[in-house]
Amino acid sequence: MSTLLLKNGRVIDPSQNLDRIGDVWLAGGKIVGPQSRADRTLDCTGLIVSPGLIDMHVHLREPGREEDETIATGTQAAVNGGVTSVACMPNTEPSIDSQAAAEFVIQQAKRAGHCNVFPVGAVTKGRNQLELAEMGGLVKGGAVAFTDDGSPVESAEMMRRALEYARMFDRAVLVHAEISELTKGWVMAEGAVSTRLGLRGMPAVAEEIMIYRDIALAELTGGKVHILHVSSAGAVDLIRQGRAKGIRVSGEACPHHFTLTDECLRTFDSNYKMAPPLRTQRDVDAIIAGLKDGTLSVLATDHAPHAPEKKAREFDQCPNGIIGLETFLPICATHLIRPGHLTWPEMIRKMTINPAEVLGIDRGTLQLGRIADVTVIDPDAEWTIDIAKFKTKSRNSPYHGWKVTGKAVATIVDGELKKCEIG
Ligand SMILES: [Zn+2]
Ligand SMILES: [Zn+2]
Repeated sequence: MSTLLLKNGRVIDPSQNLDRIGDVWLAGGKIVGPQSRADRTLDCTGLIVSPGLIDMHVHLREPGREEDETIATGTQAAVNGGVTSVACMPNTEPSIDSQAAAEFVIQQAKRAGHCNVFPVGAVTKGRNQLELAEMGGLVKGGAVAFTDDGSPVESAEMMRRALEYARMFDRAVLVHAEISELTKGWVMAEGAVSTRLGLRGMPAVAEEIMIYRDIALAELTGGKVHILHVSSAGAVDLIRQGRAKGIRVSGEACPHHFTLTDECLRTFDSNYKMAPPLRTQRDVDAIIAGLKDGTLSVLATDHAPHAPEKKAREFDQCPNGIIGLETFLPICATHLIRPGHLTWPEMIRKMTINPAEVLGIDRGTLQLGRIADVTVIDPDAEWTIDIAKFKTKSRNSPYHGWKVTGKAVATIVDGELKKCEIG
């Protein structure tokens, strides 16, 4: 059994409230106590040793849209960004709505051999909104949660039943909150900027009404809801109130929603077009406040690769979303830690044990005996984001050329060193 020693790093493990200088030993794919000798030693002086980062909101596109991303390229991008586990969304073609479909994803991920992939199953069969997917079969196949992300679950009755079923398996339903009747033909957030640009807007209430509905349904059913990509100040307030009442609701923030605003749309660059849309500075401030006070307990990317020719279409015709796996850590570190909004332990918590708890997966910790997924971070590395160097198949990022501080310099999955830029 070969042993790996991560020597003299700042070990931050929020699952144990741990933040101290020390060593971490890995052997046999597990975190272990001190050994007599190390087969390999990485000098982590000046570096942070963290549980492997988890991105619980990723679109891997396979099967069906391999021109945008595959399970192999997406997980390679994850490793490059310091992410050891991803949860992938079921809006593939066909969608992940059966045991066999979930098993396929896990099989492909194993074959690729980069990072862990936890499939999320569809709420409705074929995401067609007509009948519930085979939720029991999905759980058997390895699905860790349910969502129709990409689209909302339009029917409140369907959502209620999904929450009742998911509760039987102690699984969360992940909510893409959007009342479609209010968002027809939208290209950006509704507000002063959309009016000036003469573009059709999506009002924030389209998101907030559904969040209100789903928190109420979580209260009714005792089910667990997780609000994906929270983008508005009102949405943050609703989640804060729900949590104060003891309802099982959690919320996530994506980097673009706290680093960019609707003003960016003046460029008509399609890399600023996403769902939900970029909003105002007031919304950005509310999301940061929600991250600070714990209302938003998860950071995730909504990594949404689209081949260049698709993003190059007319603004109202091009698809929504941006890639995120390889900018996740540096953008969050630069825009949450440097300005003093969060400390490293607070931020790492939202990228490790908190998403692990939402999904109920055995990851996100450096406790002895647990699976050896580890990310080593250089908190002081200053570099410039260059999308040409990305491992993802797509290039739709608004962060090209951004100067950032903080970088994943080693990624260890199941005890295996998948990326290493140390020494
Ligand atoms: Zn979504
Ligand atoms: Zn998504």
